[in-house]
Amino acid sequence: MAVLSPESKVADKVFASPNHGERRDGQRPTMLVLHYTGMTSEGEALQWLCNPVSQVSAHYFVFEDGRVLQMVPELRRAWHAGHAIWNGETDLNSCSIGIEIANAGHPAGLPPYPEAQIRSVIALSKDLVTRWRIPAERVLGHSDIAPGRKLDPGEVFPWDELQREGVGHWVEPAAVQDGRFFSRGDRGMPVEALQAMLAMYGYGLKINGMFDDDTEKVVAAFQRHFRPQRVDGVADASTITTLRDLIARRPGPPEA
Ligand SMILES: [Zn+2]
Repeated sequence: MAVLSPESKVADKVFASPNHGERRDGQRPTMLVLHYTGMTSEGEALQWLCNPVSQVSAHYFVFEDGRVLQMVPELRRAWHAGHAIWNGETDLNSCSIGIEIANAGHPAGLPPYPEAQIRSVIALSKDLVTRWRIPAERVLGHSDIAPGRKLDPGEVFPWDELQREGVGHWVEPAAVQDGRFFSRGDRGMPVEALQAMLAMYGYGLKINGMFDDDTEKVVAAFQRHFRPQRVDGVADASTITTLRDLIARRPGPPEA
């Protein structure tokens, strides 16, 4: 199924990647996953995503200057999520649309995303969530669905700005303060409660009452997206309050 002109009006043109397949079980997009390329050259990143050797791709690519290319037809299964989990689902490529945002990422010290690029990411995301009726809380970062393994799009990504424009679910984080906290090695009911809240929101982790390595990675992933002021994997009061607010204010399913 070749696409000759982009499906989104926000995209300038098609630059086809061969790296895609059929969505399993006839699934349709119900999730939007945002990535950074993590390479210093955006041209090389684009070539890599379109190289059959790489076995990776995404549906759209957003340059630093805001230009947008479509690489994979929206109905096809692009290969961007890898080993991942959300709400118990593990084949996230089959249920999602992926956007690669050109940014050199953590290896380059997390350069800021230029405003023109963010404007395009917002416009493209808005178009996709509207056309596919993707719920706000299913607009996620790669780090949310692959905690520890992936760090993108990174804690400098302006999720707050997207939320103000009606893309994604995000609440103002509670202020970072000193006080009681939970961290690696702790165990017991409060840790179990924290794990249950993270799992309820969608994060993949075992509820075992032990603040283990996996729990630390998920807490850091949560912070990266929702409380970016301090990403340390320590569940302080601000982290827990922000998580509670996020769950309490989770929007219902989109109107039919
Ligand atoms: Zn990624």
